[in-house]
Amino acid sequence: MRPKKLVAGPHAKRRGWLQNGNPPGDPSSAPRCGAKTRRGTRCQAPGMANGRCRLHGGKSTGPRTVEGIARCRAAKWKHGRYCREILAQRRRVRGLLRTSADLIAEFKNALWAG
Ligand SMILES: [Zn+2]
Repeated sequence: MRPKKLVAGPHAKRRGWLQNGNPPGDPSSAPRCGAKTRRGTRCQAPGMANGRCRLHGGKSTGPRTVEGIARCRAAKWKHGRYCREILAQRRRVRGLLRTSADLIAEFKNALWAG
């Protein structure tokens, strides 16, 4: 089967919105990115809404939503050996051991004295 013939040529002016919600318009007339390139010159690619091109979007500003922050924390989590809760638990156990050791020493002293 032969492909459908284009009614208008490939260079004919198109109308309407582009795919993925991109605005129509002439990308060559868009404001330039202007980021410093490795050559030391200014990037000439068309800028996005933030002013930079798709290659020079800038540093990540990090997660914004509570869910995103939680996901980021979960991704960095290794074992939780030094998390606040475990450290507090270990501190409590050490305290209990210390007091029980003191108690045992007290009993021994009482037995030997009596
Ligand atoms: Zn750029």
